[in-house]
Amino acid sequence: MSATKRRVAASVLLQLALVAWGGGSASAIDDYTLPFYNPAVALSFGVDRDRTVGRQLDWTGQVWNDGVPHPGRVYDQHSGVDYPMALRSEVAAAKDGTVIDTEGSFGTSQFGNFGNFVLLQHSDGRRTLYYHLASAAEGGIGVAISDAVVAGQRIGRSGCSGICYGAHLHFEMLAWNSTAKAYRPADPLAERRWTTWPGRVPFDAAYVRESNSGTEVIAQWRTITHWVEFRNTGGRTWRNSSTVGRIGLGTWSPAAHSSLFRASDWPSTWIATYLDVAAVAPDAVGRFTFGLRGSQPLGSYRETFNLVAQSVHWFDHARLGGFYVPILISNLPSCETAGSAPARTSVTGHPALRLALAPVC
Ligand SMILES: [Zn+2]
Repeated sequence: MSATKRRVAASVLLQLALVAWGGGSASAIDDYTLPFYNPAVALSFGVDRDRTVGRQLDWTGQVWNDGVPHPGRVYDQHSGVDYPMALRSEVAAAKDGTVIDTEGSFGTSQFGNFGNFVLLQHSDGRRTLYYHLASAAEGGIGVAISDAVVAGQRIGRSGCSGICYGAHLHFEMLAWNSTAKAYRPADPLAERRWTTWPGRVPFDAAYVRESNSGTEVIAQWRTITHWVEFRNTGGRTWRNSSTVGRIGLGTWSPAAHSSLFRASDWPSTWIATYLDVAAVAPDAVGRFTFGLRGSQPLGSYRETFNLVAQSVHWFDHARLGGFYVPILISNLPSCETAGSAPARTSVTGHPALRLALAPVC
């Protein structure tokens, strides 16, 4: 079939198959990652937010009704976002979820409906669709129904199966519409549910190092300065700003509890500090410096710290719990034993700092 005929067929099928824009909440949560790894991939077409045939409305509010394709914008009745990419490029899950449907029997560039796809269900009630994948035989489908996937995990490879006239990934976000009692296309661009880094979760971190690498004693009522460095392995820039993306180091396990070691420089009873510098881009290392003050009573404590990004939900601590900073407080009942704190031990994959809380002698 010629490109023109296929385009016409695609348009008719889309009009038949796709019900109008169902909307969704307009909250900007930034909790989805781009569904691929190659940062050079550009947007080809976005979601048409206007159900009127012949009238195209993109996520910026721009109306396009001249009937001519506008790359990077929308085409009529388009319900997803198109990303051009070479055949068999890696496709990633946009969010943690469960595989609820797949199709992999079409050829990689075979014409017919939406071709090979993966459909994921997410815990926020939304679904994401990945259309036009390569065939299962060619590695296009990397998951099976009921598989649990995490954001950024490879779930398949791109193709040009289904209605496709150029290799690309058609990515679609679906939101439940309670009026229609059906899933309807939502617009991830309009809702700004994206990281800036393809294939990565928005906020992730890896422990790098910390100050005071040996055993250290905090005399009671004194304050020491401590710092810890993390690499930004997520998709968003860390910021020390009261607007979006402010990263702090807070007590953890349990979250938000007041620390016995809170020093006067802490911004709150459970936030030890915010990022030292204004911004840390993905892959760069950021330092967090804070005081630890010896308080009372003397005793054995395990104080843990972890990163938070304004809302604690922005870091998935259930999955990323391995990078927290454990501080073990040794019981020092007398002045004579103040210098004999236990040796360093490995607790969570990096050495735990042991702080001995000593009496004033
Ligand atoms: Zn598309």
